[in-house]
Amino acid sequence: MYPAPFAYHRPASLDEALSLLAAHAGAATVLAGGQSLIPMMKLRVGEFHRIVDIGRLHGLSYIERRGDTVHIGALTRHAQIAASPLAREFALLGDVAGGIADRQVRTMGTIGGGLAMADANACWPCGLRTAGARAVCTSPRGVRTIGVDELIVDSYTTCLASDELITEVQVPLPGAGTGAAYIACKRSAPAYPTVAAGVLIALEGGVCLRARIVLGGAGSTTVVSAEAEAALRGSAVGPEQLAKAAELVVGAASPPADARGSESFKRAMLRSLVVEAGQRALARARGEQTTGGHRYA
Ligand SMILES: Cc1cc2nc3c(=O)[nH]c(=O)nc-3n(C[C@H](O)[C@H](O)[C@H](O)COP(=O)(O)OP(=O)(O)OC[C@H]3O[C@@H](n4cnc5c(N)ncnc54)[C@H](O)[C@@H]3O)c2cc1C
Repeated sequence: MYPAPFAYHRPASLDEALSLLAAHAGAATVLAGGQSLIPMMKLRVGEFHRIVDIGRLHGLSYIERRGDTVHIGALTRHAQIAASPLAREFALLGDVAGGIADRQVRTMGTIGGGLAMADANACWPCGLRTAGARAVCTSPRGVRTIGVDELIVDSYTTCLASDELITEVQVPLPGAGTGAAYIACKRSAPAYPTVAAGVLIALEGGVCLRARIVLGGAGSTTVVSAEAEAALRGSAVGPEQLAKAAELVVGAASPPADARGSESFKRAMLRSLVVEAGQRALARARGEQTTGGHRYA
């Protein structure tokens, strides 16, 4: 299906993009890589009368380390991130970026769009929440930095104002003794995850000091459980502790039954993904170079 007619702007600078968004308060939609928005326009899901195409703006596509933080420009493509040496240094970035859809989507889709879309099944919201990442958001009123925890407030809903753009994503690098992993369960490579889990574990002397467990596809937005994370803290984490934490976090989830699977299938898969991602995170915390793909079921 063709999209409904729309006005199209291609601003030459960030300032021009922000002015356009402000001038058309709430009536303009940002286009970045187009991998979610264009299918929505073609399917006529929602109304899009005015498009502000930021996809070719200069200066918003980079991935670089500054101190102990990875700075990623909002227009950085998934494929660029997957190919970056920083995705080997912080393997969770590679787990997420390298596993999104197929090469075509990864070449066009951006990290900013993946986050702003706020799809509970998508990879960046879950992976970046696991990593404790922040989004730098810019509007005509200035710049603010928001944790991914606060940025995404509900299904397909962020706290961004209508004239505000995500301009950068900041990911704290895990220090020595910390490892993280993200694993999705997909029906096929070019499909969104059915469910997913991200786990971060910080060890000191073999004991877990800090843990983060985040579920994707498990509710209207990503799911965390303070109780599950507390179950790992202070213990020498192994399969038994991970299974207990998985039970707790999956208990806090409400995965919807849909074409991708029944609720019970998703719960079983989530429990298993938490344990697997936890084991991979532990291996990485111990300095092992582990890579591993997603699960297909
Ligand atoms: C076949 C297919 C399979 C896919 N599989 C996966 C998958 O496995 N995992 C996954 O995570 N994703 C998947 N995707 C989605 C893909 O990752 C998209 O690239 C991503 O969701 C959106 O990024 P985009 O740059 O294409 O954004 P767009 O489609 O251009 O925009 C998406 C939304 O974000 C807003 N937006 C974009 N950039 C900004 C910004 N900087 N600031 C504020 N708002 C902004 C837009 O207004 C729009 O509402 C898939 C897509 C397709 C077509």
